[in-house]
Amino acid sequence: MSESIQEEESLSSSREGPVTLDLVIPIYNEEEALAHLFRRLGEVFSKEACKSAGIGAIRYVFVDDGSTDRSAFILRDSIRDGLPGTLYRLSRNFGHQSAIAAGLHHSKARLVAVMDADLQDPPELLPEMVSKWREGFEVVYAQRRQRKEGLFKRASYWTFYRIAAFLSEFKIPLDSGDFCLMDRRVVDAMEELPENLRYPRVLRAWVGFRQTGIPYDRPARQAGRTKYTFSKLYRLATDGIVSSGIRLLRAAQLFSFCFAVLTVIMLIVFGVLLLRSSDDRELVFFF
Ligand code: UDP
Ligand code: MG
Repeated sequence: MSESIQEEESLSSSREGPVTLDLVIPIYNEEEALAHLFRRLGEVFSKEACKSAGIGAIRYVFVDDGSTDRSAFILRDSIRDGLPGTLYRLSRNFGHQSAIAAGLHHSKARLVAVMDADLQDPPELLPEMVSKWREGFEVVYAQRRQRKEGLFKRASYWTFYRIAAFLSEFKIPLDSGDFCLMDRRVVDAMEELPENLRYPRVLRAWVGFRQTGIPYDRPARQAGRTKYTFSKLYRLATDGIVSSGIRLLRAAQLFSFCFAVLTVIMLIVFGVLLLRSSDDRELVFFF
């Protein structure tokens, strides 16, 4: 039996029984949302719920992305009081994607999930994601059917996902963000990529493995306000598109080539016209 078949078999058999789960949560000035978050996580990952979902141990990997409010202190105190979590504090605000990348880097469990702190990613979906993993998928991402946000934001996201999918050289699932569950093998594969600009949802799509989406309706933010200003959202979109492949670069190359050819043709045409009517002052003036 070849090595790959052996590995395949050992993996499918080890999907039975209790499994460990690290849940990565990026936090930036979320002091108003944290109490809601802890309550919902407490419900979803109660002892009984974990037992019936086959989750042997849960650990919250909080990544504080340079918060300037009390978020980090609330998290530290809650962990001291028994919340099963670890807090990583970044030295400044690096952005949502970098915070997630840092959390993934510090994850250790067999399963690793990612969700936002404001409960727009409903944690109730996580046990369903674990069941999908048991069915044989290595990546289970949540796919939005609809989102309860302003028209501008919805339109921007809709356009962004379609441009990114069009420009990408591999399949990027439409309308799915970072909310997902991944097998350790996927996170390890992502970790091996040397990218400086780490955009987890793009790397996740790139590494392959068996991936599936589960549909959900994205609710409104539970508390507090969005941390994405227009400029941050614009940067997120351009980073995402740039990191999804070099098609954009090729398109730019093609455009500049076409313009260069057009310029040469126009120069020749004007040169000929100029020579033919050297006494035409208007044309000389135009040049
Ligand atoms: N976030 C972060 N760093 C940032 C901006 C946001 O870690 O610079 C976190 C934020 O605390 C939340 C998640 O990323 O957990 C998504 O942010 P937000 O809800 O503000 O974005 P939106 O859902 O409005 O796109
Ligand atoms: Mg949000």
